[in-house]
Amino acid sequence: MIAQVIVDVSAYPVDRPFDYLVPVELRELVEVGCRVKVPFGPRNVLGFITALQEQTDVPVDKIKPIAKVLDIEPVLTEEMLELAKWMTVHTLCYEIDALQVMLPSALRAKYEKSIKLTAELSNLPVELQELFGQKEMIPYKKVEAANLLKPLKYCMNQGFVEQKTIVKQQGQVKAIRKVKVIDDISKLQEIAISISSRAKKQVQVVQWMIEHVGEEFIPHELCETLDITLAVLNAVVEKGAAQYFHEEIYRDPFAKDIKKSTALTLTDEQHEALRQILKSMREKKETTFLLHGVTGSGKTEVYLQAIQEAIDNGQEAIVLVPEISLTPQMTERFRARFGDLVAVMHSGLSKGEKYDEWRKIGRGEVKVAVGARSAIFAPFKNLGLIILDEEHESTYKQEDTPRYHARDIAIWRSQFHHCPVILGSATPSLESFARAKKNVYTLLTLSKRAKQQSLPAVQVIDMREELHSGNRSMFSTVLADAIQIRLERKEQIVLFLNRRGYSSFVLCRDCGTVVQCKNCDISMTYHRSSETLKCHYCGYEEHVPSECPECHSEHIRFFGTGTQKIEAEIHKVFPEARVLRMDVDTTRQKGAHERILDDFGSGKADILLGTQMIAKGLDFPKITLVGVLSADTSLNLPDFRAAERTFQLLTQVSGRAGRHDLPGEVIIQTYTPEHYAIQLSKEQHYEPFYEQEMAMRHKFAYPPYFYVVLIQVSHEDVLMAAEYAGKAMDWLKLKLSSQVGLIGPTAASISRIQNRYRYQCLIKYKKEPNLTETLQQLIRMYRTEWIKKGVQLSVDLDPSSI
Ligand code: ADP
Ligand code: ZN
Ligand code: ZN
Repeated sequence: MIAQVIVDVSAYPVDRPFDYLVPVELRELVEVGCRVKVPFGPRNVLGFITALQEQTDVPVDKIKPIAKVLDIEPVLTEEMLELAKWMTVHTLCYEIDALQVMLPSALRAKYEKSIKLTAELSNLPVELQELFGQKEMIPYKKVEAANLLKPLKYCMNQGFVEQKTIVKQQGQVKAIRKVKVIDDISKLQEIAISISSRAKKQVQVVQWMIEHVGEEFIPHELCETLDITLAVLNAVVEKGAAQYFHEEIYRDPFAKDIKKSTALTLTDEQHEALRQILKSMREKKETTFLLHGVTGSGKTEVYLQAIQEAIDNGQEAIVLVPEISLTPQMTERFRARFGDLVAVMHSGLSKGEKYDEWRKIGRGEVKVAVGARSAIFAPFKNLGLIILDEEHESTYKQEDTPRYHARDIAIWRSQFHHCPVILGSATPSLESFARAKKNVYTLLTLSKRAKQQSLPAVQVIDMREELHSGNRSMFSTVLADAIQIRLERKEQIVLFLNRRGYSSFVLCRDCGTVVQCKNCDISMTYHRSSETLKCHYCGYEEHVPSECPECHSEHIRFFGTGTQKIEAEIHKVFPEARVLRMDVDTTRQKGAHERILDDFGSGKADILLGTQMIAKGLDFPKITLVGVLSADTSLNLPDFRAAERTFQLLTQVSGRAGRHDLPGEVIIQTYTPEHYAIQLSKEQHYEPFYEQEMAMRHKFAYPPYFYVVLIQVSHEDVLMAAEYAGKAMDWLKLKLSSQVGLIGPTAASISRIQNRYRYQCLIKYKKEPNLTETLQQLIRMYRTEWIKKGVQLSVDLDPSSI
């Protein structure tokens, strides 16, 4: 018996399965989709069995046997193996990267498996009975050591026992010590070379770390895996290859009682949308629906009733939300309707708990999986429906390899399972709406709010005029008056600071110097509470200088607006107002989002002040005013999606007001009131915006009219970065047709991050049959030659920003 194995060596230039011999004693244990350890070069590496067969081209004396089987039940289904192959072509990744991303992170680190008795002991073969003795649960390792995996597998298939993942560190433990490998490959390589060859173990550890950059481990488990003492680990940590840190352990923030909900009587529009979805489910058609519904139109109720149908049919459903911690209200609605049938894949779960949820999904013990991007890989075997809520959100695109978009994976899986996909949004991405217009997707429209409330009235305020008339505050007169009225009426207010690409920085008023990070070419952000400057790209931190580093003037102070500064100003202008602030600083702890939202919902504050994270999913009856303090900042980003993102953001935040009985009002402050993205967000009419933005995309040859590929090249040496970006460009010029637009290489808009210089090239094309092949060759060139020179190259087939 021969197994084809995809090995976990993504530094290897060639991406293909290798043949291994299955030793006789493992024959009954291995299955397609199991993980194994196999010899590769001088060591054993992790691999996945992708096929079992009887023949091989490898000569008998060359073929090596599988060393160890890691799973006695497959961790990957045939569907996932097939999907991984598709991903290698459509995201230009290695098969191993695609396989790894589908698995819960517990399987990528070390964890404890145990076997639990679920039937009478007497059902078990005698050898296993002895192993259990009086116990209900025994370690998997013990079964393995006793050489009893075969009878164990039989018992598992019979349902006599089940596998459990043991989560350690329960009880009083609040923090655990972990060790994290540094991110910098070239630094690791330097360290490896610098270590004396007599310290063999240390060299081995650092070499192992080169393949695990940025990963985190529990120190004693790492020592066990690598078979080293703690002293060896300490030595390489001291040389800078890794760092110790403490990680806090949290309790499940969702563990509270939720009242059961029942189906609502649908509005006519909801009814029609649901009818079409159910029809497609019954006919087993892989239709992609675009559910375009204004904010508050009741999209969620449509999802819930469609899922009910899937459950009634004995099928399962996946619901994707942009970020699970930002949408607690949304996820609660699924729990309220379906109770224990829902698995919520939220970040409050430990790795082991996530893995157990994942296995429950695999066995069909839960019927609905709610989660962020990676939940699209939930291993259901009988999918009846897939939903992407807020389908326009950029979090659905993974920014690292494999650079997949959850929408594409959803559509692939819907074709595999012959079930529909629902893409829901009040402001669909231009790509999706264009596809709906061409009938590639089926458009479903909810044009009215579910409870017949009118959309809030929106006013745009020109902040230049405020300045001319002498108002230097960050609140226009109109907004200040509106806030005052709400405070008197005891209604609630949401203030939104659009901070994308914007921060408060320190500026010298004499010479104009802005303090910048010494690693990255970007302005450092001022943090008032600690009087420090922080770089938000690399994390570098320093004290606010007392004089200008250039001209030594003392007139150096911060400029711009952060949430903290606005909070201080609110306290000054409206001393009686109770304010809750929600931004990266106040939500660093897990569960903090939920707590802040709970407090606001129960009326503990009058004003909720926050960044983009408050744009999503808020649904509180007493919010009657939404103020946008600066609409411009996202509009000025050097990216072709800037207008689209601004329109989406403004529509989303506006949708937070007046969702229930009280009417809502929205006030948008801006320095560019004439821009169409701002003008059109006033009426919250999507289609006029769509038309105008499409015209711009057409004019400048951007998606959805053209496809864009982003190639980034980085190196510590600016000349090397430029040289290899040039080489990449020359290669593309040589191989691609003249129809293709090639732009660059140019220095990236943030040209240096973590001491690496970055250059980028852009490919624009409509049809280019050679493209995938050419890019694969480019990547191979990089893997075999360039990587040794310290170059890093990434290829993104559908970048969410440029
Ligand atoms: P969306 O997801 O489109 O923004 P929601 O699903 O949050 O909208 O619905 C907005 C509000 O309307 C919610 O409070 C919801 O409970 C309510 N709602 C939805 N559908 C109905 C209905 N058919 N009848 C009464 N209320 C509804
Ligand atoms: Zn100065
Ligand atoms: Zn930096």
